[in-house]
Amino acid sequence: MTPELIKQALRNVRYPGFSRDIISFGLVKEVRCEAGSTQVDIEVQTKDPAIPEQIFKECHAALDELPDVGEVKINIDIKDAPTGAAEANTGKSSIPGVKRVVAVASGKGGVGKSTVASNLAIALAATGARVGLCDCDLYGPSIAMMFGSHERPSANERDEIIPINAHGLKLMSMGFLLEDRSPVIVRGPMATRYTQQFLRQVEWGELDYLILDLPPGTGDIQLTIVQTVAVDGVVIVTTPQEVALIDARKAVSMFAKVNVPIIGLIENMAWFECDHGTRYPLFGDAGGVREAERLNIPVLAQIPIEVPIREGGDQGKPIALNSIGTSNASLAFHQAAKSVIEAIPA
Ligand code: ADP
Repeated sequence: MTPELIKQALRNVRYPGFSRDIISFGLVKEVRCEAGSTQVDIEVQTKDPAIPEQIFKECHAALDELPDVGEVKINIDIKDAPTGAAEANTGKSSIPGVKRVVAVASGKGGVGKSTVASNLAIALAATGARVGLCDCDLYGPSIAMMFGSHERPSANERDEIIPINAHGLKLMSMGFLLEDRSPVIVRGPMATRYTQQFLRQVEWGELDYLILDLPPGTGDIQLTIVQTVAVDGVVIVTTPQEVALIDARKAVSMFAKVNVPIIGLIENMAWFECDHGTRYPLFGDAGGVREAERLNIPVLAQIPIEVPIREGGDQGKPIALNSIGTSNASLAFHQAAKSVIEAIPA
């Protein structure tokens, strides 16, 4: 047995959640072959204890059966990863069959991120694109409700979850995975593991665009998602209000750190227009637009506050299903979808 043959066998061990193997990631530091024993030294940078555990098991599975290998000893040195860019650069896997992945993010909850994600997905599909929409919020999934879907997804023979069809889109929600488990107990590394498992276990089929509705904020889960899947770009949603803008800024800086391109910003709840045509900027006047200028990112849309937007969300019929001639908001979402397509054609 030689170190070269051992390394060759270890090329079959992939970094959990990624398509690359542990050799090409440079995690295998040393291999020693002596009479009757083989020793492999591996270094892993992660905060997730499940990762070294899985690598350990898979290395044994890859090596134990080799002839003349003797006793196999795998030593894993776990270095605490700095959260953020360093771990992000270990590589990301793309989802088979999916051409483009677009994340919709917000720094703060309640700014209309899910509303934007749903309408953007519908507007993209209206151009003839094949679109999937994935609700990645473990703690408050709302996409299924916004599409009026109460169906439970089933699994295929490979144990992958089959998305639900609604309004011409493929729909998936992390909430489906939890079933009877209380989301409150799924925290920290467990939430990370759930998220990774979920992203890898959906049968999306052929898609031009997959929209990921990220949970609000800039924590570990958001990082895990953009580190697990190769995201082509992110749309940031904010209201014009200062508290939302502060968090939107944080989100922009997080995505920049992990090298996810910002497609642009959508200012939601930009104003309310009364029956007489007067516009009231309830949450501040064009704060999102000014923030986008400061951050040097495009404004994809300004969406007014409209009762039909909220009703559409509650009734499972997002406003972008309405013809663009009848609703300014619908028109704005369809224009935003065109900007997304221009930024990252499928
Ligand atoms: P988030 O995903 O950021 O938490 P949601 O998309 O769930 O926010 O929106 C929160 C609530 O505000 C929902 O009831 C939604 O229908 C409503 N809403 C969002 N945007 C608008 C808007 N432009 N006009 C009216 N209601 C809106």
